[in-house]
Amino acid sequence: MPPSASQDLDLAHRDTRRTVQLDDYTRFLDRERIERIYEKAEALQHLHVVHVNSTFYGGGVAELLDDLTLLMNNVGITTGWRVIQGAPDFFSITKKMHNALQGGSIHLTDLKKKHYEDIVYKNAVRTHLDRHNMVVVHDPQPLPLIQHYHRNGPWIWQCHVDLSAPDRELWRYLQSFIEHYDGVVVSLDAYTQSLDTPQRTITPAIDPFAIKNKELSEAEINERLAHYDIPRDQPLVVQISRFDRWKDPEGVIEAFKKAHEEVDATLVLLGNVATDDPEGKEVYESLLDEETERIRILSVEDTALVNALQRRAAVVLQKSLREGFGLTVTEAMWKGSAVVGGNVGGIRHQIEDGENGFLVDSIDEAAAADRGAHSESRPPRDARHEGPSDRPRAVSAPPHAGGLPRSLRRLRDALPAERLTSPGATMEPVSPHAGPA
Ligand code: UDP
Repeated sequence: MPPSASQDLDLAHRDTRRTVQLDDYTRFLDRERIERIYEKAEALQHLHVVHVNSTFYGGGVAELLDDLTLLMNNVGITTGWRVIQGAPDFFSITKKMHNALQGGSIHLTDLKKKHYEDIVYKNAVRTHLDRHNMVVVHDPQPLPLIQHYHRNGPWIWQCHVDLSAPDRELWRYLQSFIEHYDGVVVSLDAYTQSLDTPQRTITPAIDPFAIKNKELSEAEINERLAHYDIPRDQPLVVQISRFDRWKDPEGVIEAFKKAHEEVDATLVLLGNVATDDPEGKEVYESLLDEETERIRILSVEDTALVNALQRRAAVVLQKSLREGFGLTVTEAMWKGSAVVGGNVGGIRHQIEDGENGFLVDSIDEAAAADRGAHSESRPPRDARHEGPSDRPRAVSAPPHAGGLPRSLRRLRDALPAERLTSPGATMEPVSPHAGPA
């Protein structure tokens, strides 16, 4: 049974609109699994949880938090979402850190460290997290926040990047903050590090009800493509990603050119720019010389277009060189599209090569896989006036329908036993901000 928390009633009074409810998942999950989630949530009813990251949109973390925080409220766990602020020079440092965590190089000066820590401190002064009895901090941008609070419960650091080969000097520096946390969450077992802090894995998930993932009619798909003048008379090859070098947009263009010297097709590179990623604009602009009638490069924020492209594509590419998880792969697989992905990180975890997609290690392999996917194929659906049931099911949908069950289990794992055995117990007294160390 739903835990009919007063939170639900309050939300209902605030507005007549409705957010996705756990019960809506009966379309995708059996009743037994839904009940198990309610049972897990039962033990956590008394918690006030907050997630902290660095952007409200653009990129997988915001994508995850958008539906996860709503669902947590729906099952009776009061859950908020805060976003730290910073000028582009702050995000330029944190983007360098992100790159170095994924194996890039970094020139980590004392000045950069000071600026990073100063901006996080300013955020701590204006963000009041002392009353929450669980704080989940996402990725490196807000990581040092923990130094500035008296804690009223566990703090968890959840890292979404590909940690298979982080820069050691940077890791040592970040470790000085990570060690203050009660738990660390990574996206794959392969990313766990040598740490005294307990580590857990949560593989991310998508929201099947979002505009980006819900069913679309052929007319709706056509309307979105026509709106952006995307040709519908040739098969589409698409890659949808932030404009980021790790997503290898140049490699995608090169592979497409190799694969389609003779076969007609149109490549669409669609990207958005997250506010915490100042390199995006530069990467986007560096690609524009490649634009032709058959290579479209779009930078727009339009989730219905993401959906339309993933559904219509003959091939969805995600030719990343590093990938924490790759929700774009999950989204394309959920829709039953043929997927060709870089043989790295979370993509390797989702695609079983030759079974439900193709993994590639080079531009030539990407070109061959792209060509292969077309050779079995057929004129574009638009030209054949097919119904959706004619669509080749090159992949089966992965069982990611909302990240709630795993998140609840991990939340529960992170809590001291006394908090679980006495739901609704009085909280520890609220402490004031500690100020800088
Ligand atoms: N995305 C989007 N519009 C774009 C490009 C990407 O909405 O133009 C979304 C994409 O659909 C996915 C998320 O951004 O939900 C990217 O998550 P992913 O895990 O693939 O990569 P990240 O950006 O976190 O590295």
